[in-house]
Amino acid sequence: MFTDQVKKQLEDIVGEKNVAASNASKLAYSYDATPQFQSLPDAIVSPKNTQEIAEIMKLCNENKVPIVPRGSGTNLSAGTTPIDGGIVLLFKHMNNILEIDENNLTITTQPGVNTLHLITEVEKLGLFYPPDPSSMKISQIGGNINENSGGLRGLKYGVTRDYVMGLEVVLPNGDIIRAGGKLAKDVAGYDLTRLFVGSEGTLGIVTEITLKLLPLPETKKTMLALYEDIHAAAQTVSKILSNRIIPTTLEFLDQPTLKVVEDFSNIGLPTDVKAVLLIEQDGDAQSVDKDIHKMAEICRENHAIQVDVAKSPEEAEALTTARRSALSALARLKPTTILEDATVPRSEIANMVEAIAIIAEKYDVDICTFGHAGDGNLHPTCLTDVRDKEEIHRVEQAFEEIFEKAVELGGTITGEHGVGAMKADYLHLKLGEAGIGAMRNIKKAFDPNNIMNPGKIFAKNSPKRVVVSQS
Ligand SMILES: Cc1cc2nc3c(=O)[nH]c(=O)nc-3n(C[C@H](O)[C@H](O)[C@H](O)COP(=O)(O)OP(=O)(O)OC[C@H]3O[C@@H](n4cnc5c(N)ncnc54)[C@H](O)[C@@H]3O)c2cc1C
Repeated sequence: MFTDQVKKQLEDIVGEKNVAASNASKLAYSYDATPQFQSLPDAIVSPKNTQEIAEIMKLCNENKVPIVPRGSGTNLSAGTTPIDGGIVLLFKHMNNILEIDENNLTITTQPGVNTLHLITEVEKLGLFYPPDPSSMKISQIGGNINENSGGLRGLKYGVTRDYVMGLEVVLPNGDIIRAGGKLAKDVAGYDLTRLFVGSEGTLGIVTEITLKLLPLPETKKTMLALYEDIHAAAQTVSKILSNRIIPTTLEFLDQPTLKVVEDFSNIGLPTDVKAVLLIEQDGDAQSVDKDIHKMAEICRENHAIQVDVAKSPEEAEALTTARRSALSALARLKPTTILEDATVPRSEIANMVEAIAIIAEKYDVDICTFGHAGDGNLHPTCLTDVRDKEEIHRVEQAFEEIFEKAVELGGTITGEHGVGAMKADYLHLKLGEAGIGAMRNIKKAFDPNNIMNPGKIFAKNSPKRVVVSQS
């Protein structure tokens, strides 16, 4: 339990100025990017190094004080809402790139490094860190690792997990462990590195990260394919892949999303078509040309009414930036934007897109759909108003049915945003009780006092969505 004594001991560890407990600070860290979840922490603590974090962990474990590690708070699953109070732990002093190793093609960083900064720094050396969540201008690498984030380049290059080689982690009892390292091969015991990736701050605190880098691709090309029929666009996705082409990016935007994105970005996107595919390929110039040519042909064969290849890198960049702004653009329309990430096998994209439209109509709710079509990872996004309780009820029913449909099609309730507090109630759809039981046992082994980010992943008494409490 958090007491004045605990606060004093925290100040002894990190220094008085690194413990904030004013009402304004508590309010600022009571929520994240997820609508409808808010809860006040007892204090906000900013350690300077791993040793301080180990001492904080011991203290909080002894006093059973919850710890909510927080990167930039951009998660969309209520992953950093301090549901049971306790301390929010920030990494603002741990934001240095420690080493770029050009011999081993790795980068070692502290968790508070901004994702885009990391990407830009390695690109200066002709190296490449592919995971590119749309939030990368704001998110931190520690947050990306704990959500196992994906991005627009995920189809060809995979997600964050595929690049994490080594981690330093502080466990709830204060032990500091190192998992993995700069090793292409390492089978010494259980793969703890992978266990921590995507663990949503529920098992330990990541304090140092070693990531794999690739050579920067020589060139890239981007194109847009326009459709009068959503089904034809979705069908094209399957056809490109079945033709053995893996583009870097294969994104889908429906008409409502297109209109809003164009209004936001003003780059001349077509708004009179039903759907658009944004396709990018990278690699050596010859293969990129060959793939782009072939994909344009496949788009036309599958009833694209127009296919345009970006004429310059600037035009290409404008298109991908516009796609990355989809959520921000949609969020301007209504007071509340709920973005989900139901994911299905790629071959089921057409069925899922159709099902979302039918479900939205059934519950009379406003859902736009865009997303990483090549990954089967769609973002049905509901524009609503949290103050309209009756509508919110219909929104919840619609999303529940969307998750059920995704699982029925062989998919999952979340492809990249994590479970957090938001989807804890739906986890059983994907894992069943036995699967959840196995995960609970892992959690108990690491964190018997349940101090690490309590109320996340595992449902227990978490009510659906509406957690607006003050501790
Ligand atoms: C506009 C927008 C676009 C987005 N686009 C994408 C996208 O394309 N792809 C995607 O996958 N996600 C996307 N997201 C979701 C979100 O940005 C990602 O999940 C991101 O990785 C979160 O990073 P963060 O630094 O904000 O972490 P936070 O939100 O602060 O934290 C995320 C989780 O990590 C834990 N955590 C953070 N740091 C540590 C640490 N050092 N040790 C232990 N646990 C830690 C937290 O407790 C929490 O559970 C988007 C969000 C927004 C708002």
